[in-house]
Amino acid sequence: MPKKVPHRMCAICKKRAIKKDLVRIVRKISNKKKVIWLVDRSFICTGRGMYICKNESCCEKIKRSKYFRKKISADNLETICAYIEEELFVYR
Ligand SMILES: [Zn+2]
Repeated sequence: MPKKVPHRMCAICKKRAIKKDLVRIVRKISNKKKVIWLVDRSFICTGRGMYICKNESCCEKIKRSKYFRKKISADNLETICAYIEEELFVYR
């Protein structure tokens, strides 16, 4: 019997996908008391997390989304998207 693979929902397009096709980001407070979202490569970091598809369209959408721009600082978003783009490059 194959193990059931858990699916997670992308915060951008609301599609469900397996973990391998998603990037998890976690909300943390930096030592300067700033909110920072980090890429959680292990998928087990504690804290409020969300998932984003590893694809260009969700990456573009998160950068353009007013909601996420308010929630996540611009340079933080850039870092996250750079990570996703890097992952995409590895995939190809
Ligand atoms: Zn998505």
